Amino acid sequence: MLDALRQIVQDLSAAGGFRAALDLIVARVSLILDAEVCSIYLRNRDSGWFVLVANEGLNAEMVCHVTLNQREGLVGLVAERAEPINLEDASSHPRFHLVPGLNEEVFSAFLGVPIIHVREVLGVLVVQDREVRRYDEEELAFLVTLAAQIAGRVAHAEATGDIANLIPGGARAQREAHFEGVPGVPGIGIGTAFVVLPPARLELVNDRDADDVDAELGHFEHAIEQTRKDIERINEAVAKSLGPEERELFDAYLHLLDDAVWADDVRGRIRKGQWAQGALKQAIAEQTAAFERMRNSYLRERSADVRDLGQRVLANLQEVSHAREPYPPDMVLVAEEVTAPMMAELPIERLRGIVSMKGSRNSHGAILADALGIPAVMGAVDVPIYNVQSRTVIVDGHYGDVYVNPGSVVRDAYEQFLREETDFAQELNTLRDLPSATRDGHAINLWVNIGLVSEITRSLDRGAQGIGLFRTEVPFALGDRFPTEEEQRAIYREHMEAFEPNPVTMRTLDIGGDKPLSYFPIQEENPFLGWRGIRVTLDHPEIFLVQVRAMMKANAGLQGVLRIMLPMVTRLEQVEEAKSLIHRAHGEIVEEGFAVKTPLVGVMIEVPATIYLTREIARTVDFLAVGSNDLTQYMLAVDRNNPRVADLFEDMHPSMLIALREIAKGSHAENKPVGICGELAGTPEGAVLCVGMGYDVLSMNAANLPLVKWVIRRVSLRDCRRILARSLRLRSSREILAFVRQQLMEAGLQRALPHHELAARA
Ligand code: PEP
Ligand code: MG
Repeated sequence: MLDALRQIVQDLSAAGGFRAALDLIVARVSLILDAEVCSIYLRNRDSGWFVLVANEGLNAEMVCHVTLNQREGLVGLVAERAEPINLEDASSHPRFHLVPGLNEEVFSAFLGVPIIHVREVLGVLVVQDREVRRYDEEELAFLVTLAAQIAGRVAHAEATGDIANLIPGGARAQREAHFEGVPGVPGIGIGTAFVVLPPARLELVNDRDADDVDAELGHFEHAIEQTRKDIERINEAVAKSLGPEERELFDAYLHLLDDAVWADDVRGRIRKGQWAQGALKQAIAEQTAAFERMRNSYLRERSADVRDLGQRVLANLQEVSHAREPYPPDMVLVAEEVTAPMMAELPIERLRGIVSMKGSRNSHGAILADALGIPAVMGAVDVPIYNVQSRTVIVDGHYGDVYVNPGSVVRDAYEQFLREETDFAQELNTLRDLPSATRDGHAINLWVNIGLVSEITRSLDRGAQGIGLFRTEVPFALGDRFPTEEEQRAIYREHMEAFEPNPVTMRTLDIGGDKPLSYFPIQEENPFLGWRGIRVTLDHPEIFLVQVRAMMKANAGLQGVLRIMLPMVTRLEQVEEAKSLIHRAHGEIVEEGFAVKTPLVGVMIEVPATIYLTREIARTVDFLAVGSNDLTQYMLAVDRNNPRVADLFEDMHPSMLIALREIAKGSHAENKPVGICGELAGTPEGAVLCVGMGYDVLSMNAANLPLVKWVIRRVSLRDCRRILARSLRLRSSREILAFVRQQLMEAGLQRALPHHELAARA
């Protein structure tokens, strides 16, 4: 039966559309289980009713015309209980419900199993037989397994409207529809959908022998040249609207184009006899696969750039050109994969929002959108891009929501949010040079988390007074080998000069976990519990020494304090060892004649064990900083990147609050400053609690800084302490969040809260 199951699943992925897939399931199941009848009922999301969408063995004309509500019949009972029901004689069951015209009367045996996706019953899979018999354990297990296997596909069909489309008159793209993606760039955008399809599709290219190898090589070189011109042209066109740092994104494209490795790979394949298009397809597939294997989402997103570039080269090979429809005045760009050049080819001043089926906030498209202040929703896999052209779209980049054809209620509400948001953004802009202190004069350092040179200007524009976390693994990850000491020095110097005379906290290389380097692969069963952060660098003192030397040299002659921070520490010996290496490197540099100050050294508290060592660690170093992202992950045993358990990732969990408070107390008991640089610090609710706990530094993404500052300037330290004290008595993060929000509202700070929250309470 296992083989049969595998076969069905395999054939399903090859089945054309959703209708074909459903028909295949009922036909196969009735054959395998030797059941006279097999049916699939699916929930119609709009009504909540279950519709018979596929059947084998009953009156075929009734398909899509039988609907049962959740309380009706045995199907309703399976859905209600969310568990299988196995009966010898269905008609004698009190919940048996005879649907006229279905000709079910003659069947006795009934087995129904729910199709469940993320706790929701999306449908019911049923088999029935004429003879009075009970389906055996193996048959039951088969059906349960199959239902679990198809649940994801059903959920997708529900979201895309494929289920509604099965039902007469149910096409969703014509109607108001809501889709979910992930927040890309915060903000609300309203406009007319403008769909951009890829210029050419690599996946449609066939492998073929080259007729003339030299001619194919010539085509390829010509296409590369054309693509370079295209990108340079785009670059020039956007130069006016972008700062030098955003233009770096385009330079990165040109670098990719110049990257000898993949182009040589294409040439090599052509020389072996493949035609240019096939060789390009193969080489790009290999390159993108290499990026996609990376767990670090920033690097994974680079595969989109490679694919985009490949499609541009292919379009030039195929000499295709697309006529564009006229641009609407307020447009929302919708595409499978929004890239930076794609945006730059459009009239940017008309762009009100972005919807990308693929990608995340780390995609270059999202990074550019952020720099331009265009709200974006990424990873909106279910948006039917072929059906939305010219429709009205609302992009909610705060929550990752997309509304197509919004009705007047949704539209009016969003127009109101948008107006409020625009006013508020103007107000936040005026805060840049104002002190970040509470109403009663308690100063808080608001610093930024940074990784790319392109984030410097934005951070300064938003009033950052220092760098609280420089993720040095990001520049390491951009190359194809370890950067040299001088290369590192230059990058670090750029940041330090930009922030001079403010402090800069440089974290030593934190690779491993979800951040491998392509040129230094680490294969492990459990990467988050493996060779990560300081564990790697202490095993490779040559890497560590070069890095800390570069940091200290970069600081030469500057007033800004260099703070070197150690990630993933679990024991004191690691701190001692790292300190002695830093000390040694410092001595060597001074001997070489550089006038460098001794840096401050600090430790990240991000593994629960170190909570209980706070005081000992604080005694050994100059400062502490909590990495609340990892601390939450390890404290709650929740992978921070796993969407299945995303709702269990609670950085405001009661245990987290207790831990965070203990760390702050312990550090202060040793007279050492303590900061926090996880995502928690960048939310109004988290910031208020951390201020209440006494954190000296809140470090966050530049985008969140003005809002946090706005809140801090409107509360008193006493308020924060009171809110913290009461929060510590609550039992769940949900209660804590609700309580803090309520307190902020009562203090008249509702503008700092997410609009959904406000709507829910209105
Ligand atoms: C953290 O773990 O909270 C942190 C700030 O570091 P990173 O997110 O880079 O692991
Ligand atoms: Mg961390």
